[in-house]
Parts: sequence; structure tokens; C-alpha cells
Amino acid sequence: MRSTQKDPFVVVIVGAGPRGTGVLERLLANAAETPPSRPLSVELVDPYPPGGGRVWREEQSPLMWMNATAENVTMFPDETVTCDGPIRPGPSLSEWAAAEGACAEVTHTTFATRQVQSRYLRWVFDRVVAERPQNVSVRVHATRATRVEGGARTRQRVWLEDRDEPLRADVVVLALGHLDAVPCKDQRLLADFADRHALRHLPCAYSADADLSVFRPGEDVLMRGMGAAFIDLMVLLTEGRGGAFAERADGRLRYVPSGREPRLHVGSRRGVPYRSKISYRLVGDPPPLPRFFSAPEVDARLAGRDRIGFRDDLWPLMAKEIAYGYYHELFTAHPGRVALPWQEFSAAYDGLDWDAEPLRALVEASVPSKADRLDFAALDRPLRGLRFPRSADLQDHVREHIRADVDRRSDRRHSADLGAFLALLSVYGQLPLLTCLARLPARSRVTDVDGWWQGFFEYVGSGSPRERTRQLLALAEAGVVRFVGADMWVEPDEERGVYRAGGTSTPDTVEATGLIEARLPDADLRTCTEPLLRSLYRSGEAAEHVLADDDGYAHRTGLLHVSPDDFRVLSRDGVPHPRRFALGPFTNIRRFATFARPRSNALSFRQNDRLAREVLRLLGAPARVSRNDGGRRAGTGLPAKTGPALPAEGRLPVQDVAVVRPMVA
Ligand SMILES: Cc1cc2nc3c(=O)[nH]c(=O)nc-3n(C[C@H](O)[C@H](O)[C@H](O)COP(=O)(O)OP(=O)(O)OC[C@H]3O[C@@H](n4cnc5c(N)ncnc54)[C@H](O)[C@@H]3O)c2cc1C
Repeated sequence: MRSTQKDPFVVVIVGAGPRGTGVLERLLANAAETPPSRPLSVELVDPYPPGGGRVWREEQSPLMWMNATAENVTMFPDETVTCDGPIRPGPSLSEWAAAEGACAEVTHTTFATRQVQSRYLRWVFDRVVAERPQNVSVRVHATRATRVEGGARTRQRVWLEDRDEPLRADVVVLALGHLDAVPCKDQRLLADFADRHALRHLPCAYSADADLSVFRPGEDVLMRGMGAAFIDLMVLLTEGRGGAFAERADGRLRYVPSGREPRLHVGSRRGVPYRSKISYRLVGDPPPLPRFFSAPEVDARLAGRDRIGFRDDLWPLMAKEIAYGYYHELFTAHPGRVALPWQEFSAAYDGLDWDAEPLRALVEASVPSKADRLDFAALDRPLRGLRFPRSADLQDHVREHIRADVDRRSDRRHSADLGAFLALLSVYGQLPLLTCLARLPARSRVTDVDGWWQGFFEYVGSGSPRERTRQLLALAEAGVVRFVGADMWVEPDEERGVYRAGGTSTPDTVEATGLIEARLPDADLRTCTEPLLRSLYRSGEAAEHVLADDDGYAHRTGLLHVSPDDFRVLSRDGVPHPRRFALGPFTNIRRFATFARPRSNALSFRQNDRLAREVLRLLGAPARVSRNDGGRRAGTGLPAKTGPALPAEGRLPVQDVAVVRPMVA
């Protein structure tokens, strides 16, 4: 079927979760200012309700919480966002909750339930649609897209699960978010073992969709992973089964079991849970960030180098930045605990190299108490080098570790931790903007950046609300949760017909009849269960992102390879499809697949804006720049050219689309 000049342009967005909704917001905001040459019809496809989508659907346990405070979650770009599209401010989650009056329990510092966030996201979606320009229509298809077909010069056909006719689209945007996967070989072996011995095995899964009913009361169950998924599963298997938490006289929690919970033996590489989230605000002034780790300055500093190293070139600046955030708060908020005024310390700190003796000496001389000094190694691996003769000693130690974490994270005398957290976020935001990252060997990208640094960031900055950590402690004190230790291993014991687990923290091992992989499935084109992506991958119309070095090293990331410039889907030959775009955690542009913080110039908004404007440019909208941001826009906007309108037969101006080869970066 051919389109005519009278037909509207059609943009299909597959996935109507937070990303699909964010792209829609930018598309409509930009279309209001720079309308395409014909009416625009936006078709959203998602089996789950738009706004929240699958992860943030309202229909889920109220025990599932967010891990960010309500004042730090927004779906609306504000004036700090350096993008070319118009800014349409709107309320953060906490502002919305206060204004709507529907969620009186949500304050600025509340960790809201996912149900509340679901309502906010639905409200955002409805508002965005209600404020659409006159010549734009929006339709939602509550179903799954199974296939996308169509060449570079023809309209795309998007096949839906329950329809005989495809949607025909000028442009397709994939915002598929978190993917399910078939279990990997190791997990299949453990599942087969479970089948043969009548045990229970839960592969990596999204917690809200997992069938936990198979785990029996009192059963010993191993859990591999101690991050966000572990906390969700722990809550569902305890409070979710009728257990309750009561306040003790000393202010701690006591767990009152229902008798229906299994006994959970948990472990991971670190062997301890993520650091709990801080919910108070800074005591001192906000640290002026970035200071030592801004992308333009790091790029300038490392210019002219063929190769850069993570440990030698990047980490010293990153660490210095995080420590700067920490000491800024310590010195300005708690001057009684330091021996120098901030200005003096800061002037000396500025000129010193990280991890060199003069800087260590400066910190030691100006921060008398060792407990007040930032110690990355102790923060990162609290069990490293510790070996306990018996599991009981390990339990005591880890419980004490959690107690100290809970106390510290709720005590504003330690607000320097919040300063460090803000600097950590700043570093996390600057890192992907570095152009010099392309000169970091792929091996280091994999092991240092995507491996160690990402893990460290999540462990320190992306833990659970403090209340959840208090509950974990109460469960550990009640013996419902036990710790296996660091470097946890699991093996099938054929002779005894059980799973066996241990770690490096104690020689004691544990036997169990259940095993839960407490992590989300890895996003991987080769193993995902998504027919749409699998078919694109099989045909070579989509490719996985591969990181490679000259010496033959190659790492297959499993992520959908899209152009970092405009988010076009790249074929196996590295050719961008002019009509297909993708963004989110299943792509190589997966950083910042989290909610934006207000007033943070959030990268996800800039990405959405860039994608939306590129789509509109293809549809013939004039490339009008709405914002003047005082020259801070460099590198964030679209090329200021006017894209020709799609001709009647739907041909795209392919000469406008640069051919991008597979990239190492
Ligand atoms: C359990 C969990 C908890 C999280 N908690 C937080 C938090 O507290 N704070 C935070 O900042 N971030 C959190 N995140 C990070 C998360 O990445 C983002 O919050 C957000 O959900 C990402 O949005 P998205 O739209 O890219 O992906 P998703 O939320 O996964 O949405 C993708 C949508 O695409 C749909 N879809 C997929 N395939 C198809 C298809 N073939 N056809 C039609 N529709 C399809 C899905 O149904 C889904 O609705 C959490 C993530 C998870 C998984």
C-alpha cells in the first residue's frame, strides 16, 4: 500500500514504558513547534498500560518499591536540560503527589511504591497526549509487536500479535526496555538437576512476574545476587507471605514470621548487600560539580594520546571527584571534625594527584579521625581478606556490617556520604560523554568500565531504601536470611541430590533444595525471548554491539547496536536503517536507563529529544532550535539542516543518513 500526500505520517513506538513515553513527550513537544509537513499519527504498541508499561504497571504487589526518593524522580525536562527542543516543565513524582492529593503518604523523601509511580507515569502519559498539537493523533495498541519489515526506502510494516494486518509506519522506534531471556547453559544444567531431584530452580527473571509459590515453607533456598532483585524477592517471600515487621524498643525492627517463609541463604561476589540509599538532604552547600571530572576537561587533558588507560588516566580523576564531593560536605557541614578551613583544604587538594603521598598526607593532617576519611577499598569490598572459622561467625560479622550501614546512612553526622554520592552520580553522568573513551582498549571497557565501575556504582549508589535494609537485618536476626559469604559458588551435589553452596569467607558450606538466581536476565539479542528482535538479528538487519581490540580481543555484549549519534538501528554490516531507531537498556546506549533527577540536565531527556527531532526532521519538519542555553549545547543537538519531506511513495532521503561502520566505542 502506498501513502499519498494526504495521508498522515505514521510513527510507531514499540514499548510504552517510561522510555516510550519520554520519546512521545519529546516528539509531541517538538511537533508543536516544528510541525511536519503532513498530519502525524503516533501508534504506541505495548501489551501493558502506557506510561508505566510492564515494570511500572499498577497491577503488582504494593510491597514493590522504587529505589529513588520521590523528589528525585521526574518525567519532565526542565530548564537545565541542554537540548534543542522546547522545554515543557512538569511536576516531579513528589510534586505531582502533593498536587493531586491522591498520595498523601508520599513526601519529598519517600521511596514510593511502584504502584504510586505507575499512577504518576499514567498521569504523565495522559497529560502528554492531551496537550498534543492539533494535527497529531495518538493511538495505543494493547498488544505485542512481533516483527518489523521494510527496506530503507519503503514504509515499515509492524506486525502485531493479534492482528492480520500490520501497522504501516514511516518510522519505527523500539523502546523495548528490559528483555526476558532463555536460561543460559549453566542455568539449564542447574534446572535439569532440579527436575531430576525434585528440587526447585528459578532462573533470572523479573521479580514481579516470577512464580515463587514453588518454594516451600521452611525449605532451604539459595539466592545468588544481593542487589535490587534480591531485595524484591526477599520481601515477596517474607512479608509477602504474611510475615510482619514490628518496631523494637531500641528502634530496630523485629521480624514476626508467618511460618510460610523459606530459609534464604544469600551470597554474591561481595557477599554483602548493596549500601542502603540515603533519604536525607545535604547539611552543607551542594558541592560545585563537576570539578575534576567534566567530559570536556578530561578530553582536553588526554588529547593527543593514542591509547588511554582506565586505572592510570580515568580512575584517578573519578576518585578525586568523588572524594571532593565527600570532603566538601565534611568540611562545610561538620567543621568541628576537620583541622583546616575548607578553602585552605580545597586549594591544596586541587593541585595534588589522587592516590599520591602528598594527597594522603593532606587528608591525614586535616581529617583527624580515620573513620571520617573516605576509603574506597573498604567501601567496595568489606569482606575482602576476611576468613571466619564458622558460618556462625560470618553471620555475626555481616549482621554487624549491615547494622553499621543502616546507622550510618540515617545519621546526618555522616552526610559526607551524601556528598560522595552526588559526586558519584556526576562522574557516572560525565563518563559516557567522554570522546576519549574510544581510545580506551575494549578489554578495559569490558572489565573496568562495564564491569568493575558499573558494579561499584550500583553497589554504592543504587541500593535499596534504608527501611529495606533494616528489614533485611531483622530477617537475618530472625534466622530467615543467612549469608553464604563472598565469591559465592553453587554446585549440584549428585550424590545427595541437593544444591551445595559456599564462598571464600568461611569453610562451611550449605545444602539447599531450592535455588533462585536473584538477578534480572541479561539483555542479549542471542538469548532474548523477543521475536521482534530475534528476527531482526537472524536476518542481519540488527546486530549485537561488539567491543574489539587490534590484538584480536573481541567481546560480544549481546546489546542491540545502534548509532550513538542518532540511535538508528545498525545492520550486521554497520549500515544504519534510516527508518528504525532504538533506545534503552537493551541497546548499547543503555546508560541512564533510570529515571531522571530534576535539575540535573539528565542525559535521557537529551537522548529522547535528539531522537524525536531526528524523526521529525525525516518527516520534513523544519529544524527550528527552540532554546538558547548560553552556548552549553555543544554536542547535544541535531545538525541544523532542514530535512526534505517524505515524498508520496514514502521514499526517504537516504543521502541524509551517514553510513556508520561498526564501532569499537
Ligand atoms: C524491577 C525494576 C525496578 C527498577 N527500579 C527503578 C527505580 O526504582 N528507579 C529508577 O530510576 N530505575 C529503576 N529501574 C530501571 C528501569 O530501567 C527504568 O525505570 C525503566 O523501567 C526503563 O524504562 P523502559 O521504558 O526503557 O523499559 P521498560 O520499563 O522495560 O518498558 C519497556 C516496555 O516495552 C514493552 N515491550 C517490550 N517488547 C515489546 C513488544 N515486542 N511489543 C510491544 N511492547 C513491548 C514492555 O511491555 C514494556 O512495557 C528498574 C528496573 C527494573 C527492571
